[in-house]
Amino acid sequence: MESIATLGAQLRAKKISAVELATDCLARIEATRDLNAFLAVDREATLAEARAADTRLAAGCASALTGIPIAHKDIFVTKGWKTTAGSTMLSDYVSPFDATVVEKLRAAGMVSLGKLNCDEFAMGSSNENSAFGAVKNPWDLTRIPGGSSGGSAAAVAAGLTPAATGTDTGGSLRQPAAMCGITAIKPTYGRVSRYGMIAFASSLDQGGPMARSAFDCAQVLEAMAGFDARDSTSDQNPQTPILARFSEAFTGSSTSPLQGLKIGIPKEFFGEGLATDVGAAIESALQALEKLGAVRVPISLPRTALSIPAYYVIAPAEASSNLSRFDGVRYGHRAPHYTDLADMISRSRAEGFGLEVKRRILTGTFVLSHGYFDAYYLQAQRVRRLIAEDFQVALAHCDVIMGPVAPTTAWKIGEKNADPVAMYLEDIFTLGVSLAGLPGLSVPCGFGANMMPVGLQIIGNYFDEGRMLAIAHQYQLATDWHTRQPKGAL
Ligand code: GLN
Repeated sequence: MESIATLGAQLRAKKISAVELATDCLARIEATRDLNAFLAVDREATLAEARAADTRLAAGCASALTGIPIAHKDIFVTKGWKTTAGSTMLSDYVSPFDATVVEKLRAAGMVSLGKLNCDEFAMGSSNENSAFGAVKNPWDLTRIPGGSSGGSAAAVAAGLTPAATGTDTGGSLRQPAAMCGITAIKPTYGRVSRYGMIAFASSLDQGGPMARSAFDCAQVLEAMAGFDARDSTSDQNPQTPILARFSEAFTGSSTSPLQGLKIGIPKEFFGEGLATDVGAAIESALQALEKLGAVRVPISLPRTALSIPAYYVIAPAEASSNLSRFDGVRYGHRAPHYTDLADMISRSRAEGFGLEVKRRILTGTFVLSHGYFDAYYLQAQRVRRLIAEDFQVALAHCDVIMGPVAPTTAWKIGEKNADPVAMYLEDIFTLGVSLAGLPGLSVPCGFGANMMPVGLQIIGNYFDEGRMLAIAHQYQLATDWHTRQPKGAL
C-alpha cells in the first residue's frame, strides 16, 4: 500500500479514482478475512463516500486527504454503521451521530472503509479481549497484533488501508503500532476531541492516527485535531498547527538535519525486563539518530515502575463509573430472562461484559469504595502528579525522550491469558506518558529475534506533536523500516 502522499498525488492527477482505490481496499479486506481486523464493512456506504470524493476531486476542490481511505477503531461511534466497542454489550448498537473525529475526517474527504476490531472497551494489550475474537498479527498469524487498537494496526500493516484511527488510554496506539511495524502517535491529552469516542478512562483516553509513515500520521492528525465545544476537556488554547510545525522543524543541512537535538535516554527504560532483541533494535535506532546529528542525554524517570499500579487503579476507577451506563435500560444488551429490575440489570451486565471488563469494574468499584478511596484512588492520583512532574524535570534537560514502546515483541496468541498481571507489565513504557497527558509516538525501528517488528517511542512535551513527527520523518528518510511489509501484504 502506497503512502497517503503518493495516493493523494495519483488521485489529484486522475491516475486513479477514489472509487477504484476504495474498491481495491475492499477487495484486500475481503481477501484477508482470517486476520479478523474488520468488524464491519458496508460496500455501498464506502462507495457512496468515494463517489462524493471523486466529485470533489473533479471540481478541483480536494484537500490532501480527499479520496484517501480510512478505517475506524470500533470505539468511535458512527452513524449508520454498528459500533460495538468489541463488546457483546453493544453488539447491535447503531449510534444516531458520528464522533467528532469521524466527522472531521469525512469533512476532509477521507473515505471510510469500515470498523476495526479492538479489545472490549479498549481494555487490553493484545486484542484477545474482543468479544468478536482475537485479531492476528499480519507478520505472524499465530501472534497477537498488540492492543487495544489491534485491528487498526493489523489493517494498516497488512496494506488493507493507508490509515486508521485508534485510541490510547495507556498505550493502545503506540504498542500495537510497534508490534505491527507501523507508525502511530498518541496526541497530547485534549488535542483530539473525545466526543463520540466510547469512554474507557476519560482523563486518559485520546484518539490518534495510525499509518505507514510519520508524514502520513501528521496529515491525518492535523485533520483530526482541534477544539471541540462538545468535549469539556478539549484544549481551548490556539494550538500549534501540526503540519506547520512539522515543516518548519528541521530545515537545516540534509546530512545532519537533527544537529544538536537532545534525546533524553531514561535509564529506567533500559534496565531489567527489556528483552535483548528489543534493546538491540532501539540501540541501532539511537545510533542512526546520532548520525543525523542528535546527541544522547542520560535522564531518569524515577517513578516508571509506579506507573503500573497508579494506572491500574485510576483507569479501572474511571471505567467502573463510565461503564455504569450499560445497564440494559439506557444502553446495551438486555438479558432475555429475569425476575425484577435489579435481576435484569445484573443479568444484562453479566451476559454483556467479558472477563477483563468485569475484572476492571470490580477493581474500580473497590478502589473507589468508602474506606479504600484514600488508600488507593487518592494515592494513585498523587503518584500520577509526581510522574507528570518527573517528565517535566527530565524535559528540562532534553528536547525529546526516547526508548522502547514495549519490553518485548508480539507474543503468541494465548500465551499471557492466564496471567493478567503479566499482561499489565507489558505496558510499563507507555503508561507514564498517558498519566502525564503527554504526546507519544511509535516508529518502526527494526525486528526482534522472531522477525517481529520493534517500535521506538518518541515522547515530547505538551503540544509538540509537529516536531516529534518531524524527528520521526527525518529518521524515516534515513531508514527503511517503515516501508517493510509482512509477506502476503498487498
Ligand atoms: N493496555 C492498557 C489497558 O489494558 C491500555 C489500553 C489502552 O490504551 N486503551 O488498559
